[in-house]
Amino acid sequence: MKEYTVAVLGQAGVGKSALSMEFVEGAFPEYYENTLEDTYEKEFEHNGDTCQLKILDFTSSEQFRAMRESFIFSKQGFVLVYSIGDLSSFMRLRELRDQIVRVKETTNVPMILVGNKCDIEEEFRVVSTKEGETLAKEFECTFLETSAKTKIHVDDTFYDLVREIDRL
Ligand code: GDP
Ligand code: MG
Repeated sequence: MKEYTVAVLGQAGVGKSALSMEFVEGAFPEYYENTLEDTYEKEFEHNGDTCQLKILDFTSSEQFRAMRESFIFSKQGFVLVYSIGDLSSFMRLRELRDQIVRVKETTNVPMILVGNKCDIEEEFRVVSTKEGETLAKEFECTFLETSAKTKIHVDDTFYDLVREIDRL
């Protein structure tokens, strides 16, 4: 069975676990703990084959920077997540992307930029769609605004990444 291995990265609280769980289990978790590391697996049909997607959802806190390096090395693709209601989560992504490029030793890495929580009210938004698009252009990757809560673009996020990996 063909296997894809990806990591979901981004600051604590942006919705990495919620997106992963919504994709894998089709359920939005109302509450759970802020864990260091979780893995999720999902089988799906792709080009007539059954494939498996393994998702690593890992804390992006600074103190685990070195640990992050070793798993970046072993993953094929990356979902970089920020919350559209949290500017610092957006600002931090450049550094994460730099680390990925450094570890992989190429800018040609399957990656998707995701602005999560797009269901929140417009008055709580601090990162505009335009700013997200501009950063994605800089990263040379696809951009999607998602909601793990109302299930907007959740499947697209992971399947787009799978297609990126196929193209490599
Ligand atoms: P993580 O630390 O990145 O894994 O973030 P979590 O998945 O634990 O989510 C952090 C908080 O944001 C939780 O209270 C979630 O219920 C909430 N959350 C996650 N995704 C969304 C979303 O798409 N919309 C809204 N409104 N809240 C979300
Ligand atoms: Mg989490």
